[in-house]
Amino acid sequence: MMIYDVIVIGGGPAGLMACNIFEQNKVNYLLLEKNEKLAKKLLISGGKRCNVTNNLSVDDFIASLNLKLKKFLYTTLKAFGPKEIISFFQEHGLNLVLEDNFRYFPETQKSSSVLEALTQDLNLNRIKTNHSVKRIDKEDDYFTIHTAHEIFQAKHVVIATGSNSYPTTGSNGDGLEFARHLNIDYIPFTPAETHIFSNEIVEKHKDLQGISIAQTKVKINGTNLTYNGGLLFTHFGLSGPVILHASEDIYKALLTDKVSISFSLIEQSREVLIHMLNQAKDQKVFIIKFLESITTKKLAQKMLDLTGIDNKHINEISKKDINTMIEYLTNFTVSIDRVQTRDFAFVNAGGISTKELDPKSMGVKHVEGMYFIGETVDLHGPIGGFNVTIALSTGHMCANYITNYLHKGEPYERN
Ligand SMILES: Cc1cc2nc3c(=O)[nH]c(=O)nc-3n(C[C@H](O)[C@H](O)[C@H](O)COP(=O)(O)OP(=O)(O)OC[C@H]3O[C@@H](n4cnc5c(N)ncnc54)[C@H](O)[C@@H]3O)c2cc1C
Repeated sequence: MMIYDVIVIGGGPAGLMACNIFEQNKVNYLLLEKNEKLAKKLLISGGKRCNVTNNLSVDDFIASLNLKLKKFLYTTLKAFGPKEIISFFQEHGLNLVLEDNFRYFPETQKSSSVLEALTQDLNLNRIKTNHSVKRIDKEDDYFTIHTAHEIFQAKHVVIATGSNSYPTTGSNGDGLEFARHLNIDYIPFTPAETHIFSNEIVEKHKDLQGISIAQTKVKINGTNLTYNGGLLFTHFGLSGPVILHASEDIYKALLTDKVSISFSLIEQSREVLIHMLNQAKDQKVFIIKFLESITTKKLAQKMLDLTGIDNKHINEISKKDINTMIEYLTNFTVSIDRVQTRDFAFVNAGGISTKELDPKSMGVKHVEGMYFIGETVDLHGPIGGFNVTIALSTGHMCANYITNYLHKGEPYERN
């Protein structure tokens, strides 16, 4: 039986980037992918347009991550971060274009172009689809990789099987099973970047469905956690970038306690609102007109319904009622019942513990020759191109390390 230099398991962005480096360096590799085709999740990403990366510097990129060991990614992103990713695609015939001065999408507006760029240099003979890996054993200096019908052997094995989000795309947490079998520590996958459910919104604020707040600050009450961004009222609760970003911490908070969150419904601060109200009071403005000038018609009417205030001149309304209204406008509080499950979350928190891995290679410190890359590792970011970037960057780092090792015979560094 042929012993490959490297077997990559999982044909998503992380695995495909690693294969590009192996192909370029004439490494004897094989890619095993469980599905009949490659990168199903990448194809549906970004509304089938794939937000590949963003325009942040490495420092700002790392600062945006909700991770304890953010620094782990520093070397990786310095070597192959957003700038290098843009160049990689350009060299492979695909320009990435900037949107909202932050996110990069393919100029074709098609995620399939991203997949084409990632596969155009690969030798199809080195890719085996419909090969779901069931178990990996380590024997002396090589790995035995079992699929349903075949067995393969390799000196190095790179696991790029993704998380447990959208398991219908093939990413159903197998990487953690492989890790468990070889006593590698991991954190179970939990939902991140997803919607939240609130019975209070469904029962009391159904009329707010469809309302979006362009920019607000969400606070998880009882903690000092806050998040900024856009928010959307839905028929089940709340969504929008700020909610997606907060969802991971809301999920954790819900494990031990009841959770409520507060946010402002308006752009103005409490102080500015009070000042504006005082001015409007002097000018004898009707309360509905005032509210409509700072919110939407729907929200203005909602404020009157919630406070029970009749539409009259502001100077005719009691101070107590005005204060209640200020509270609703600037500190709207709702209880949260649950977070969308990890299967339907855009991303999962958890994965192979970064403490187990060498950041210079993504190699497992105590299992020589085994590596984990992409979302199967306890590394993830908010929406905005962070996750595909992490997948490509870790794939690049790992494959270069292995190539270097194979070509120069450098000893495996243990930390
Ligand atoms: C709806 C949606 C939209 C998204 N949009 C964006 C976006 O626009 N920008 C962004 O940055 N991120 C986005 N993400 C997140 C991003 O897609 C993932 O973080 C990224 O795909 C992870 O890459 P990966 O290579 O680590 O894993 P995956 O892309 O999950 O690939 C893992 C591969 O491994 C294969 N596999 C799994 N188990 C086995 C096994 N046992 N044997 C063989 N093969 C196996 C799977 O079939 C799959 O092909 C989105 C996610 C979702 C769900």
